[in-house]
Amino acid sequence: MSEPRVAFVTGASRGIGRATAVALAGSGHRVVVGYARDRDGAEATVKEVEAAGAEARPVAVDVTDTEGVDAAFGRIEEAWSPVEVLVNNAGVARDGLVVRMGDEQWSDVLRTNLDGSFHTIRRATPRMMRARFGRIVNVSSVSGFVGTSGQANYAASKSGLLGLTRSVARELAGRGVTCNLVVPGPVATDMTGDLPEERKRQMTAEVPVGRFGTCEEVAGVVAFLCSEVAAYVTGATVPVDGGLSMGL
Ligand code: NAP
Repeated sequence: MSEPRVAFVTGASRGIGRATAVALAGSGHRVVVGYARDRDGAEATVKEVEAAGAEARPVAVDVTDTEGVDAAFGRIEEAWSPVEVLVNNAGVARDGLVVRMGDEQWSDVLRTNLDGSFHTIRRATPRMMRARFGRIVNVSSVSGFVGTSGQANYAASKSGLLGLTRSVARELAGRGVTCNLVVPGPVATDMTGDLPEERKRQMTAEVPVGRFGTCEEVAGVVAFLCSEVAAYVTGATVPVDGGLSMGL
């Protein structure tokens, strides 16, 4: 039997990234659990992946740091083999109205959510092209498409991922490498946990399904896009939002 493919999930120390790591374990991958600061969270994800019957290893990588990204891929290639499945899930939000938004507040979010995905894609794709196989999934947000008051930085980063995804999809379509965008609506994680209850009620009321999504619901879609059978899906924008963006 051939070796399992290596899947690298950035920001897998918790939330959607952790659930994605576990879902990819379920589809037979070796999983690299990326994290920036939360080593304990990453170790907990590794345990969940192992409990799902797959191999996993935590890798510290700040996606804003190009040298760090290069070194992390080098460690993965040395320990296992080149990354064939890449999920750009790491993300941050630093909300505030545009009139009061500082330069760092803007650029920290763009650098993590958009530049970070560029850094990993640039590093991963030469090997994917050589292997004539690759799956890339970028995690966006409905905010990037409808805009959200107080999230100009976050929304700009998430709609930027659309152009990145489609361009990479076109560049690599002939090489067996797909690149798709998953667009979650509100999902119950640490990122949304601190929102005021009234805001959560408003957001829930806007979702046709009438609730926040779960991490597993997003992860299942990501795992499908990473599978062999998804070879004919590329450059796609796939909402996982309980119908929130329907018709937009
Ligand atoms: P979360 O619970 O806040 O987790 C964020 C993850 O990103 C953590 O693992 C964190 O690592 C990692 N991270 C942050 N900065 C990083 C950096 N510079 N380099 C590498 N990793 C970094 O987030 P989540 O809610 O699961 O969201 C995951 C993705 O889905 C994000 O891209 C988010 O924008 C998107 N999304 C979320 C929602 C939602 O409602 N939750 C909706 C739409 C889209 P450490 O823990 O090590 O710091």
